[in-house]
Amino acid sequence: MNGIRQQQYLKEIGITVWSERKFAHKEKEDAIKLAGFDAKSISKNNRSLETDLDKDLDYLSRQVETCNSCELHKFRTNTVFGIGNKDADWLVIGEAPGVDEDLKGEPFVGRAGKLLNSMLLSVGLQRKDVFIANILKCRPPKNRDPKPDEVKACEKYLRQQIKLINPKIILALGRIAAQNLLKSTTPIGKMRGNSYQYPDSDLPVVVTYHPAYLLRSPTEKRKVWEDLKFAQNIYRGLI
Ligand code: URA
Repeated sequence: MNGIRQQQYLKEIGITVWSERKFAHKEKEDAIKLAGFDAKSISKNNRSLETDLDKDLDYLSRQVETCNSCELHKFRTNTVFGIGNKDADWLVIGEAPGVDEDLKGEPFVGRAGKLLNSMLLSVGLQRKDVFIANILKCRPPKNRDPKPDEVKACEKYLRQQIKLINPKIILALGRIAAQNLLKSTTPIGKMRGNSYQYPDSDLPVVVTYHPAYLLRSPTEKRKVWEDLKFAQNIYRGLI
């Protein structure tokens, strides 16, 4: 993406400052090596297992479609499995589908989704580059918070998605995603600014505010941009 477009996206999310050093492919690989990722993960994008990955994710998606492990299956129009690059380095995880997502069967398609796209573009990522999923695959009625038994029932799908996609970094959007992914009760404001590990792995997790929260509190956009740059530096092996 050229610098002018990047400036436009930053402007859209309410931020006017931008300077970025572009990473050459070789430089990125060196940074990843520095960060201690193994050779397999470096060549992930070239792996010859793409068809297996497609098959495995499609199979998992069909399991989700017929899931009735919690009561949310009674209210759904569609399950929302997730969307994006199945071989993505970045896995973005939100809370649960809302009304638009339930109707379309796709995560982050409403206003919050538009803002998420701009957030990603502000650090040079297009929606199609990343994989986007949620803690819950079905919409809770009236968009209430997920209940612990619903999170527990859905956890197996997200775990399997993480295993199959094998991302290099997770970006957790909002309190529900952050606390459930990291099994924490710490308020999101206190979780920001640190890198965590997804349980039982060395996969880094960075936490930021949910775009729906940013729609209500636009003055927090700068903090989100800081979180995204922090995540980008971790991804590049610079931190
Ligand atoms: N909010 C979320 O957390 N996920 C979606 O998919 C949509 C809105």
